[in-house]
Amino acid sequence: MLIPRSHPRAASLHIREKLVRGYREGLVVEEGLLAHGRGEMFDYIIGEKTLKTSHEAIKAASRMLLLAKRPVISVNGNLAALCPKEIVLLAKVTGAKIEVNLFYASKKRKNAIALELKKNGAKEVLGLDAKFSQKIPNLDSKRRVVDERGIFIADVVLVPLEDGDRTAALKKFGKKVITFDLNPMSRTAQTADITIVDNVTRGMQILILVCKNMKKSRLDKNSKFDNKKNLSQSILAIKNNLGRMAHA
Ligand code: ATP
Ligand code: MG
Repeated sequence: MLIPRSHPRAASLHIREKLVRGYREGLVVEEGLLAHGRGEMFDYIIGEKTLKTSHEAIKAASRMLLLAKRPVISVNGNLAALCPKEIVLLAKVTGAKIEVNLFYASKKRKNAIALELKKNGAKEVLGLDAKFSQKIPNLDSKRRVVDERGIFIADVVLVPLEDGDRTAALKKFGKKVITFDLNPMSRTAQTADITIVDNVTRGMQILILVCKNMKKSRLDKNSKFDNKKNLSQSILAIKNNLGRMAHA
């Protein structure tokens, strides 16, 4: 569903409602609500619309996902509450696997998230069966568990709204990391290979469209993307917006 662009506050309230519903249904934890608040603040400053720089990052992400041999979408509670349909659509168009991977893990919450994804058309959801658990190095014990059929063997991992320690651990483990993060200064944003500075609810829809279109043409394997430069440009756009707000 497309969120109306003409009334940004209404869009943001609609997103907030989705998250609260996800909390009541056991998908989202309290900490997830707080993390969303941090994101909302940045969304407010960027004007609740996708930045030009973010469109560039989305193109690079689409290329990386389509060229990947074993792409995986890592799903946490917030993501499942905000865009379950989009997760499934993106997995379909890119051939990515879907893995539930939580910062505050519990079996009950994992199952609730998997159910939500399945209701939205997911055929297979990884990360649920302890039989397939593997550990990534350089992280404390609980947070290092991944699925041996998913993130463990992936070449490219999309980890929207991720924590900085885990992003760094995935990078050290040799993964190419794509993230959605409204804060271009977070450790995740600064550590990932491609950071899409956008609200995941808007950005996922654009990413799906770009992937669908890109799939029809020949992919340029040599195309380069400079994440640091793109992030600096996003930070500059935020600074300019703040300046405009201060003088309004
Ligand atoms: P880091 O650990 O990477 O330094 P952090 O500790 O500041 O980040 P976390 O709670 O670990 O924050 O991660 C959540 C991140 O997700 C935040 O940077 C927040 O801005 C971002 N975020 C929250 N909601 C959304 C959303 N709907 N779309 C995109 N980004 C979001
Ligand atoms: Mg963090």
